[in-house]
Amino acid sequence: MSNAEQTAVPQPPVPKPRGRLGLTGWIFVGLVAGVLVGVLFKLWIPNGFVRDTVFVDGVFYAVGQGFIRLMKMLVAPLVFFSLVCGAAAMEDVAALGKTGGKILGFYLGTTACAICVALSIGFLVRPGVGLDLSQIASSEVAAPQEKVSAAETLLNIIPENPFGAIAGGAMLQVIFFALLVGVLIAKMGSRADAIARVARQCNDLMMEMTALVMKFAPIGVFCILARTFANLGFDAFAPLLKYMAGVVLSLGAQCFIVYSLLLFLFTRLNPIRFFRKFMPVMAFAFSTATSNATIPMNIKLLEERLGVPRKLTSFTIPLGATLNMDGTSIMQGVAVVFAAQAYGIHLGLTGCLTVVATATLASVGTAGIPAVGLVTLSTVFLSVGLPVEAIGLIIGVDRILDMLRTAVNITGDAICTTVVASQNGDLDRARFLADVRDTD
Ligand code: ASP
Repeated sequence: MSNAEQTAVPQPPVPKPRGRLGLTGWIFVGLVAGVLVGVLFKLWIPNGFVRDTVFVDGVFYAVGQGFIRLMKMLVAPLVFFSLVCGAAAMEDVAALGKTGGKILGFYLGTTACAICVALSIGFLVRPGVGLDLSQIASSEVAAPQEKVSAAETLLNIIPENPFGAIAGGAMLQVIFFALLVGVLIAKMGSRADAIARVARQCNDLMMEMTALVMKFAPIGVFCILARTFANLGFDAFAPLLKYMAGVVLSLGAQCFIVYSLLLFLFTRLNPIRFFRKFMPVMAFAFSTATSNATIPMNIKLLEERLGVPRKLTSFTIPLGATLNMDGTSIMQGVAVVFAAQAYGIHLGLTGCLTVVATATLASVGTAGIPAVGLVTLSTVFLSVGLPVEAIGLIIGVDRILDMLRTAVNITGDAICTTVVASQNGDLDRARFLADVRDTD
């Protein structure tokens, strides 16, 4: 079995017993309770030892930061192993020759475009303006960076010591080294079987660890939000709503404008027909927030309703669910603008370009399961010197955005695959144009 096949095994969501609140429900409870308690502290509890030392800067701070540290702990190994496995899957891209190259080009191109859309809309919506997080940040806020020349910036991608890069959390260097390891594993084939298996198992281990850490999310979210709102009162509401609006608008623009244009320009087919027929897959991805679980339905529906041959989809859809996350990178783009504005950090052109590069790679390193995009978001933040603490604030509203972005993630895979099928002359246009009733 190839590396790609082994890394992209769909993981159906485990059904939870009826009537019991799942993790999403508890995170929501944590969110609402955190906001309420924070506002209560701000409005009714006077400053003093109990309010400030025991609660706001004591329990809320320690538990909230504990959760953020757990998230940070995951970043380097999670990104490293998932990129190694992702790059090792390229062995199959090579086997597919031109088609593999084309699909990869579309995947990376649409992701880079998605981040540009997100940054543009983010700068328009200005989600972090009016929120001053610098006053409640921990001591780890990045110091203003010295000006580094473009040549130095590029050179800094190559680690002098890969272990030092992992230890120091230099994410671009970690990404560079991981890609190199993955590509060479693919090239060495059976000679690197053992190391490929170890990488896959480490990747699985990191996924389990992520799931475990996420179990603490409700209490973490509660404490982070209680502290934020105790310090800022209602000032934090509008920025969070604007952040959500920025993400939703960008997801909509990518899905219904960029993808429609792509489909129409390359195939001359009607995007509205595509979306009408593809809606059930989007709905499924939305409700599960899991690209991986959507793979079988995506393949089936693309073949039966849209005429995309299975010989192509059986490769491109699992690959896309592993590597191509346009929706996730959109959330990351808007989150970067939100955090930069809230901490008063100027991104500049170099910063924006770094975000495009790291968020594209972070999307490759994001597994198609719920909430992983938040963990890889740290990579993007660290690459431009933003405090990871800001993630604590947006975690509270992430689940609904996760559902939406997953729907965009899998739509991107389907659109790119349809375009490539049409370019190869493999698309059954009659089936694409047929009425839904005639193809089901
Ligand atoms: N839930 C997303 C997916 O499965 C990944 C993420 O952004 O967290 O595609």
